[in-house]
Amino acid sequence: MKTIAGIDLGTTFSALARLNGIGRPEIVPNNEGERITPSAVYFDDEEAGAIRVGLEAVNCRQLNPDRAVRWIKRYMGETDWKKNIDDRDWTPEEISSLILKKLKQDGSVESSIQDVVISVPAHFDEVRRKATMDAGVMAGLNVVGIVNEPVAAALYYATTQQVNGRVLVYDLGGGTFDVTVLDVDGQNMNIVCSQGDHALGGVDFDKKIVELFEEAYRNEHNQELIQNEQDRAKYEDEAEDVKKTLSRRNSVRKVLYGPAGSARVEITREQYEQAIESLIARTEILIEVAMEEAKSAVSDINKVLLVGGSTRMPVVRQRLEEKFGFAPDIAVNVDECVALGAAIHAGLTMMRDVPEDVPQAIASGLKGVQLKDVCNHSYGTICAPIDEETGKYVIRNSIILKKNTPLPCEEMQTFYTMSDGQTELQVTITQGEDEDPQYVNQIGREVFELPPDRSANQPIHVRYSYDTNQRMHCRFIDEESGRTLEVEFCPGNTGQLQKTSADEAAEELNAFKVQ
Ligand code: AMP
Repeated sequence: MKTIAGIDLGTTFSALARLNGIGRPEIVPNNEGERITPSAVYFDDEEAGAIRVGLEAVNCRQLNPDRAVRWIKRYMGETDWKKNIDDRDWTPEEISSLILKKLKQDGSVESSIQDVVISVPAHFDEVRRKATMDAGVMAGLNVVGIVNEPVAAALYYATTQQVNGRVLVYDLGGGTFDVTVLDVDGQNMNIVCSQGDHALGGVDFDKKIVELFEEAYRNEHNQELIQNEQDRAKYEDEAEDVKKTLSRRNSVRKVLYGPAGSARVEITREQYEQAIESLIARTEILIEVAMEEAKSAVSDINKVLLVGGSTRMPVVRQRLEEKFGFAPDIAVNVDECVALGAAIHAGLTMMRDVPEDVPQAIASGLKGVQLKDVCNHSYGTICAPIDEETGKYVIRNSIILKKNTPLPCEEMQTFYTMSDGQTELQVTITQGEDEDPQYVNQIGREVFELPPDRSANQPIHVRYSYDTNQRMHCRFIDEESGRTLEVEFCPGNTGQLQKTSADEAAEELNAFKVQ
């Protein structure tokens, strides 16, 4: 029997959950018996083609950091990022696919894992979402959809607890931060808005502790503690342990071993909290922005839900309690709820798209769960309208799909060709709120070929739609000829793979043994 599953592809840890026979999500442990798997990859130098994923990769990294990759999610979708191992360049999508492959492999002992929803941070742009899907395809998975991490967490939360009212999800993980506001009424969930930062999470807190180690060592010996990448890997791992201990205790003592001998260091929770103050303050600013977008005052928020391993830090809980006047809710397991919710999302997606593939008992288990999500960014195109005052063309970003529009949504705008005989149009897809093209991301660019010998002012319809699986589709239509251009993200443009090349890459990756 095929299994319906959800995957939390996290910066530091990943997890797999599946729907059981009655539609309840449950975590599938990995081969080592662990419920979460470190998102770490190590290219073995002793056995050709062997790749270690998980805890073993974390341990091997200290021996040979050059052959290890951690926190790859931070680079997802970045075309310039490559890891060269034995004369082969690995992309972030390929490395992520190795992590997914390990989860699929380990999870397929009882029944084959095929149909999955993978979670992504709410603020991930189109390029990063598509890269995540490609990683899934390369791992041999059928990615039925993508879900935002806080939405997945809220789905699990609302289906296991009694919740009513406006909920703020504070999701601080290993490498990313998201804040989401949603309305919950029993098993009905309406997402209102999300904000986030894709480079703010546990890894940054670890770095602050490494800085405290370095400072202490410098004070004692007037020399640098970290001499090479191997030292850095070692102290980054130790910093994470110290950070976690500081969530339970008020201080931690440690001996550092550097080039000038050893140094004893004591790090107190107070010292650590001071060091990470600017990062915590950044999460608070993003809460403010999200609440403003949701037109909510503090008193409108009925519950605060914590998601992500970094919310175990006492300072996070204290600050949220101070702000909202009540303790945040930690009823769900912060490490597992995203994968569990992603599995529910996979079930809901398949019930909508391929109901015949969903066993009756699972469908009954999910009956009544309703989720209304929103578009997480504004999407537009660059155009050149005539300025009424100056009579000159001005280049500006015209928003077609507005942020926080309920999904699914579709919008169309019409633009006009500028010159007689114009045979091509440079089309640019943007993501961002600003009218000035300088301040938005250009996520796709293509040339639209037009028929020859026509006068100016030919209407071009631009139609964007965003589906419930968090994917955007763009269409440019020349009214007179009926010609259309569907924009794909492809290599050489944003560097993303089309489906066919992702399939080919999956075949190539089969040659590597993931353990
Ligand atoms: P996630 O991406 O949600 O799995 O979160 C992983 C992050 O949570 C990593 O950076 C961990 O170091 C961090 N983390 C896990 N447990 C704790 C803890 N007790 N105190 C502070 N951070 C933690």
